[in-house]
Amino acid sequence: MDAQQIKQADAQYVAHTYARFDVVADHGKGAHVFDAEGREYIDLSSGIGVNSLGIADEGWLKAVTGQLSKIAHLSNLYYTEPCAKLAKELCTRTDMDKVFFCNSGAEANEAAIKAARKYSSDKYGAGRHTIVSLRNSFHGRTMATLSATGQDVFHQHFDPFLEGFIFVPAGDPEALEEALEGGVCAVMIELIQGEGGVMPLDRAFVARAAALCKERDILLIVDEVQSGIGRTGKLLCCEHYDLRPDIVTLAKGLGGGLPIGAVLFSETCSSALGPGDHGSTFGGNPAVCAGAAEVLSRLDSAMLEEVAKKGAYFKEKLCACKNVEGVDGIGLMLGIRLRDGIASRAVVEKLLGMGVIALTAKAKVRLLPPLVISWEDCEKAAAILAECVDSF
Ligand SMILES: *Cc1c(COP(=O)(O)O)cnc(C)c1O
Repeated sequence: MDAQQIKQADAQYVAHTYARFDVVADHGKGAHVFDAEGREYIDLSSGIGVNSLGIADEGWLKAVTGQLSKIAHLSNLYYTEPCAKLAKELCTRTDMDKVFFCNSGAEANEAAIKAARKYSSDKYGAGRHTIVSLRNSFHGRTMATLSATGQDVFHQHFDPFLEGFIFVPAGDPEALEEALEGGVCAVMIELIQGEGGVMPLDRAFVARAAALCKERDILLIVDEVQSGIGRTGKLLCCEHYDLRPDIVTLAKGLGGGLPIGAVLFSETCSSALGPGDHGSTFGGNPAVCAGAAEVLSRLDSAMLEEVAKKGAYFKEKLCACKNVEGVDGIGLMLGIRLRDGIASRAVVEKLLGMGVIALTAKAKVRLLPPLVISWEDCEKAAAILAECVDSF
């Protein structure tokens, strides 16, 4: 099929749940994407924070295809080495106790919600089941994770939602304390609200939330689906906040391009879900786990330092633009605040014409480059971004 035929078939046969940009991706290498008409782009999206090692990374390909040729799947009824190895590596490096594997961010958050409710009902009996989350949060598209998502835009047309979810404004410790009064089993937060517009939480608020939870034996769930696995220049964004939550959820960047979700449990609640309480047909799939293990093995301290430096570089270059009011975020999870009246979608569309792939997050232009992006690509992309933003 040529590009036109692909777009036609897609429009006719794929359900219209996405407002696609006018690019037919064909192949890529590292931070470079080539479209079906041969145009080249520098990728500052990494497939929404997924391609941590860029596209078609040699080590990752070797890990995945090597495992594919051995065994791609046999189900969770049996043991496999990649699953056990990845679990050991994840728990050791994050100082957590156990991990549950699934296939996406929403699924990881679903499992976290189930675990929190089970933990509480085992210990305190029925009725202590409320999950408190933050306004402007995003936790996924399934019914439970939508119920936990604090943005009205996602709440149209789909009622009734699950019971037992309440929201408090991010950064308001008094409102949080009040919300914890009756029947709460968990507080669920993103440390940097990604889809909500790349909004880092206030350190004092996070510390207060953690203390309030600890006092009351309420589980703290940190959704690191977007911010985790090196994205912010630390393996977990929690490290920036000196935080050790009861539960951390991961997905996006962990798989390096294949679907995976993971729920890390601290020892407080690592036995809440027992045999038969939860499961997933594909979760812990050996080929996917082999790729994720390769991603983790590459995220050493030198690589994480580079992520921090490259993030600082983008911030410095972009803050010098006349149409940029500021750049929010940590490491390579960045949101560019544009001068009033400049639409982020218009900037991102124009950027495509200039050979750069970027994202939006509400009114901001969002950057989630592959963690391995070269300095040369950072320099080129920052120059194009600056030129584009200031052309409005
Ligand atoms: C993307 C995202 C999710 C949902 O992940 P899916 O893999 O799309 O289900 C959940 N939480 C956060 C913070 C995310 O960024």
